[in-house]
Formats: sequence, C-alpha cells, structure tokens
Amino acid sequence: MKCNFGAGPCILPQEVFKQASEAVLNFNDTGLSILEISHRAPEFEAVVDESISLVKELLNVPDGYSILFLQGGASLQFSMVPMNLLAEGQTAAYLDSGSWASKAAKEAKLFGNVHIVASSKEANYSYVPKGYEIPADAAYFHVTSNNTIFGTELFDIPSSPVPLVSDMSSDIFSRQINVADFGLIYAGAQKNMGPAGVTLVIVKDELIGKSGRKLPSMLDYKIQADNKSLYNTPPVFAIYASMLNLRWLKSKGGVAQIEKENIAKATALYAEIDRNPLFKGTCAVEDRSRMNVCFVMESPELEKPFLKFATERGMVGIKGHRSVGGFRASIYNALPITAIHALIETMQEFAEQNG
Ligand SMILES: *Cc1c(COP(=O)(O)O)cnc(C)c1O
Repeated sequence: MKCNFGAGPCILPQEVFKQASEAVLNFNDTGLSILEISHRAPEFEAVVDESISLVKELLNVPDGYSILFLQGGASLQFSMVPMNLLAEGQTAAYLDSGSWASKAAKEAKLFGNVHIVASSKEANYSYVPKGYEIPADAAYFHVTSNNTIFGTELFDIPSSPVPLVSDMSSDIFSRQINVADFGLIYAGAQKNMGPAGVTLVIVKDELIGKSGRKLPSMLDYKIQADNKSLYNTPPVFAIYASMLNLRWLKSKGGVAQIEKENIAKATALYAEIDRNPLFKGTCAVEDRSRMNVCFVMESPELEKPFLKFATERGMVGIKGHRSVGGFRASIYNALPITAIHALIETMQEFAEQNG
C-alpha cells in the first residue's frame, strides 16, 4: 500500500478517482466523456451550480459573496487580488509568514504600495508573527492561513479593520472558518479540493469592480462573477473532480467532522515527533500546521537512510521542501489515519534499528 504524503498535487479519496475515471468514459449516462462535452451544455452548467452550492454549504458562505472557479493557480491570485482591490496610490498590508506570502506581496508591489506588518523570515518562517498593527487606511490585509512549505498555520484569524484577504490554498475545507470575517479567500484546488487546474475564489461582492483600473477581462473578478466563471472555457474536468471531492466531504459529515479527524491525525503525528528521540519538529508548537507536518532528525546524517527506509515501506512524498530540509508529511483531508499510523510505525521501527 502507498501512503501519499505529497504536498500538492495531493491525495484525493479513492472513490473520487473512481467516479472521475468513470466520467471520462461516460459522463452521467450521456454516452459522452466529461472531456468532450460542451462547457455550455446544461449537464455541465449543473456541475458548476452544484459546485457553487457545495462550497456555500460546506463553508456556510453568507449572502453577498461570489464563488468563482478560475485558472492560473493561487499564483495568479497574487496579482489578481491587488489588480482588483488596490486602487492607484493605495497601500495594501501583508503578513510575511512564508515563501508564498512573500511571493504574494512581491506581485502586489507591481500595482501599489505594500506595507509588511510583520515577518518571521529571520527565523526561517518557523512561526507565525503576532502582535502587529494593521493600518486602518490599507486597501486590504493579506494573510496566508497555512504556510505549506514551513508547516505553520494561522489559527487565530486576525480581526482586521480593513478587508481580510486569505490565501487558503492548503487548508481550505480542512477546518471551520467564518467566511464573514474575510473579504476574499482564494485557493489553488490541488492541495485539498481537487486536481490542479482550477482555483477557487470566494469574494465579497461589494469589494469588486471598484479599483478604477482598466483590467483585462479574464483578470476582472466582476466579469468572472457576472459570467458565473463561464466567461471563457473553464477547466471542465478539474471543476468536475473538485465537485466529486466536495460531495465526498459532505457525505463524511462536512468540515466540522473532517476538522476533528484532521486534529486527531496531526496530534498523533506530532506526538510521535516529540516522543521519538531521533526526530524533532521545526516550528513553534502553537503554530504547528495540521496540514503540513515538518520535521528533521537530531542527526542529519540519518535523514537519507530514513528517507530510503520510509520509501521502501510505501511512504510517498515525505521529503521536506529544500528551504526547510528534513521531512514534510502533508496530511490533507483525504489521507486516512491509517496512513498516519503507518508513518508512525515506520519512525518507530527505524528508531529501534538506529537508536
Ligand atoms: C501551493 C501554494 C501556492 C501556489 O499555488 P499554485 O496553484 O501552484 O499557483 C500558493 N499559496 C499556497 C499557500 C500554496 O500552498
């Protein structure tokens, strides 16, 4: 058995893979493949409608927000957010909590002034900065709710005097949030929602169409919202597979239930990292992510042998990002707790043989 701890694209439920592959041959008994139907076909419009309503239901999205399915990944949102929300001469505030946060701020500088409220860069982003001030005249305040590379998570959503924008690429649908706290949420699908190729944007309607900038149509939230994400050909298959995954999440009891399971999974793995004398965590304990668990070995020379040992036991994708080193186990929604137990056993067996 393979246990896929890859950071993204990542594990999705087996039944989603099965249903998606069936639709490649025969979508909804139409006798056509999901890959060949028109994006204007009523059957596909029904997929978009159901996807929108599943997002709304699973996250309790209040009225006054649009749900968009765009392309270009979370990385294009680094630019679309300032293009759409930052008027000429205005300042946007950013929390620098990791490489993705820093890349988001870099793009915003192309469109206006950027004020970094706090940064943990000097500590290799091993904690989430706290106790900063958000300027009341900023156009918006941008945070990264889960720092996929460094393994920290923003558990206390800051109360912001200006619209809060969050990159939730790697923790969307993993925990309960109050959407009303946010002006805009975006997420590349491939970390917890579906396959690569679609990006979810949840945006408060009153924020869009106001920047005064002339925007290319494809990059204008207003045009995308007015056309229900069908301004051009959307990523049909990626939206369909995401819908299947959201159906799966709903059938499991929704975000509240998966959050409990995610807490149990993360708690078990961190407990082993703290208990096992060969391993240690890399982040401030209170900021430890429930989605991306980063750890190293007390003796760096054992890291290569452990990686080999774990790979032989079916562990996939646990090599750490080059900016942290060591290991990273990404434990997204679809990863079963049995995979966590398998990794823990692997760590224990390795310790017995090398302790
Ligand atoms: C992966 C990731 C991104 C980049 O996503 P793309 O869809 O590849 O552009 C941005 N932010 C976070 C938090 C991520 O984990």
